Amino acid sequence: MAVIVQKFGGTSVGTIDRIKSVAERVARARDAGDQVVVVASAMSGETNRLLSLGRELTMRPDGRELDALVATGEQVSVALLAIALGARGVPARSFLAHQVRLRTDSGFTKARIKGIDADVLLSALNEGVVPVVAGFQGVDDRGNTTTLGRGGSDTTAVAIAAALGHGVACEIYTDVEGVYTADPNVCKNARKVGRISYEEMLELASLGAKVLQIRSVELAMKYAVPVHVRSSFTEAPGTWVVGEDESLESVVVAGVTSDRSEAKVTIRMMPDEPGRAAGLFEALADARISVDMIIQNPSAHASPGRPGVTDMTFTLAKGDLEHAQSIAARLCSGLQVDVDHDVVKVSIVGLGMRSHAGVAARMFRLLADEGINIQAISTSEIKISCLIHAKYGELAVRSLHDGFGLGD
Ligand code: ADP
Ligand code: ASP
Ligand code: MG
Repeated sequence: MAVIVQKFGGTSVGTIDRIKSVAERVARARDAGDQVVVVASAMSGETNRLLSLGRELTMRPDGRELDALVATGEQVSVALLAIALGARGVPARSFLAHQVRLRTDSGFTKARIKGIDADVLLSALNEGVVPVVAGFQGVDDRGNTTTLGRGGSDTTAVAIAAALGHGVACEIYTDVEGVYTADPNVCKNARKVGRISYEEMLELASLGAKVLQIRSVELAMKYAVPVHVRSSFTEAPGTWVVGEDESLESVVVAGVTSDRSEAKVTIRMMPDEPGRAAGLFEALADARISVDMIIQNPSAHASPGRPGVTDMTFTLAKGDLEHAQSIAARLCSGLQVDVDHDVVKVSIVGLGMRSHAGVAARMFRLLADEGINIQAISTSEIKISCLIHAKYGELAVRSLHDGFGLGD
């Protein structure tokens, strides 16, 4: 008898009818002989609704209270799902984070999991009861409710699969049939991928493919949890996220993503001398602000004994922009600080890039052919990202997708 974790996202539990059909699916898996642990997200739109209630009171609500607020979304859906399972004749019990001792640090709104008590779940399974665990939420050492960041129920599910033992698979049920070569809601001819490596999925998730939360992929890779992303609306097999050796032959480009969550900051005419960049980025790091792309232009106007000046550009999450601007204004007083919200980062990802030349050149040519100007570039061994004007985001995704031959 295999133990499996089935996680249902917001759309999959978005209405009472959807909850009934989830209960039906869980019942079928049990009838087939599996022991099922269920993880559920809040009903679709609920987390956003709760967040906007908090923000009606103040633009910067306290993190602890925000987590206490948004964690209620999952409490509702797990209780409803347990009721639906009971009504279907399947004994089920809902569990909140404190009841399965899903412990996290105290990083409110983006807490990290420290541990989970699998015994509570195992004893429910042994009694023949389906545990239905609230995704997204945790509890810190002082008993405060925390949350794992947007999309965090994926991470709850993978963490539970890892805690239940080696080889326990995690099924992520969502509103698309798997992981595609691009967001299927943007690129109509995107193809479902049968298998993808943890490494590629990690890059896709961190570059905007929200189908899996990045932390869930990190955990899956660390504990070798096989993850199956599939639709709760159909029976079709989805995408297996697996180790590199089990994925298919490395393709040059496995997928294209876009990410509109970042903004760009440029500090003009910064003195080009040792310690300037260190001072600025240390202050940002002290404020727990993560910076993504960084570009420094060549020095200009240098003369003997006098440093030149340079323009320093970086990108960061839009939510951190105001804070970063005030730090830049303090450290670079008298300098011009420009900000730009209208940017999107488009990226291509693929293990095969390691061994193929000319991939960057092809990407730049495809963008150029659409008349799209590149504002910043960053690369790693298996990805290339370009920052461009936001209005070209969808066009860029489609032309890169087709240009690299990913479409149907
Ligand atoms: P859930 O509520 O089930 O967690 P999400 O909205 O978090 O679902 O994630 C599913 C969405 O991810 C899809 O509806 C799709 O628009 C988006 N997505 C972005 N990139 C991809 C991709 N490469 N493959 C599949 N889905 C993607
Ligand atoms: N409900 C949370 C969110 O909307 C967590 C999740 O859906 O995974 O981000
Ligand atoms: Mg999600």
